[in-house]
Amino acid sequence: IERNAGEPEFHQAVHEVLESLGRVAAKHPHFLDDALIERICEPERQIIFRIPWVDDRGQVQINRGFRVQFNSALGPYKGGMRFHPSVNVGIIKFLGFEQTFKNALTGLPIGGGKGGSDFDPKGKSDGEIMRFCQSLMTELHRHLGEYTDVPAGDIGVGGREIGYMFGQFKRLTNRYEAGVITGKALVYGGSRARTEATGYGNSYFVQAMLETKGTSFDGKKVVVSGSGNVAIYTVEKVQSFGAKVIACSDSSGYVLDENGIDVALLKDVKDARRERIREYAERRGEGAHFVPLEKGSIWNVPCDVAMPSATQNELSGRDATALVRNGVIAVGEGANMPSTPDAIRIFREAGVLFGPGKAANAGGVATSALEMQQNASRDSWSFEQTEARLNVIMRNIHDTCYETAEDYGAPGDYVLGANIAGFTRVAEAMRMLGVI
Ligand code: NDP
Repeated sequence: IERNAGEPEFHQAVHEVLESLGRVAAKHPHFLDDALIERICEPERQIIFRIPWVDDRGQVQINRGFRVQFNSALGPYKGGMRFHPSVNVGIIKFLGFEQTFKNALTGLPIGGGKGGSDFDPKGKSDGEIMRFCQSLMTELHRHLGEYTDVPAGDIGVGGREIGYMFGQFKRLTNRYEAGVITGKALVYGGSRARTEATGYGNSYFVQAMLETKGTSFDGKKVVVSGSGNVAIYTVEKVQSFGAKVIACSDSSGYVLDENGIDVALLKDVKDARRERIREYAERRGEGAHFVPLEKGSIWNVPCDVAMPSATQNELSGRDATALVRNGVIAVGEGANMPSTPDAIRIFREAGVLFGPGKAANAGGVATSALEMQQNASRDSWSFEQTEARLNVIMRNIHDTCYETAEDYGAPGDYVLGANIAGFTRVAEAMRMLGVI
């Protein structure tokens, strides 16, 4: 703790994984040899750098950039870039740590990393976003490579930002190394279904959890927090499964939509016009209204399934109590670590099906790895082919977590199953690679 002072999110993420490992130590004591746990908790490399850029008024602005290359036992570092004013080294470390086990769960050859900046994209012009991305890549490019470290998107980083970053990488290196970044647009080497993958993947994961109880999404009421990339495609997929999404949100509040969220309108508001969720409510008209943040939490809306898809620690113990009281039967984490430790405890004690982020939201990075495969073979798969692969991967992740939990004497505990299955794959590889 002293070594990582002032990094509460990192402590939280490590604590959750280590808590699950008692059963591994009992069954396989060799995993405790050679300070393996200590090594796994220490990033291989952390890069912190200055990002100077010029705003539209001609003023020089300075942001801080981060890339934490956490673990490369299974493959090149892989994980998104986050642009949000709250970003600091502790947040990037928690995300990189989670990413390592998530990537292991996909079964694909990718290590774990994460990066970002405290840059706030809100209200910035297109030119400012471009100059910022170019300045960031001017430093970051020397640390990247398709066999070294492959970034992608996350909060505040979508197709536009990936394009500007790849453009600058290409210019600086004079290499068309498509596999150096994922989340690219189709026209220059992206993969079909990557944009949809995290939200779709979480929907498949929850569907598989519901099946273990003999039920499905059909006719269920669902609440999805956030209204960004993950949230939008979660809404789209679960509604195609016959569910009705009655609420989604942004950091200013939530919209309640009795008729079910209109995905086309949501995409237009958030993706095309980059407006707020309040505008969705205004344009949607009857049956929809906006509830500002100070007037209450989205988690007070009664639902059967909750899919938190905004940010870390957005769902507290109090929120979990409200959800359980209102009869929630399943929770699938689209975001990374959205539920606080208290909330997770409450869901587990109440017997709610709980899909932790490192398993449930792994569809995004899995499809990024499929994008790398397509780049390496200079191929481009159809949407159907790519989505079918995603579906199989999510089903495998679900089954791995489910079976691991049973093997370790905790049936139905997906948190334990995900932590143990992710950890053992990384740990096995690290043991074979020697003390590095
Ligand atoms: P986006 O930037 O597209 O959307 C983020 C959404 O969450 C926005 O609606 C945003 O509202 C809201 N949000 C962000 N920060 C906060 C906050 N501090 N408080 C309240 N609301 C907030 O990001 P993504 O959809 O890509 O990412 C969402 C989550 O999913 C993150 O936890 C990310 O790490 C995780 N994730 C994403 C993957 C991907 O493929 N994109 C893959 C796996 C996990 P506002 O606009 O008001 O800020």
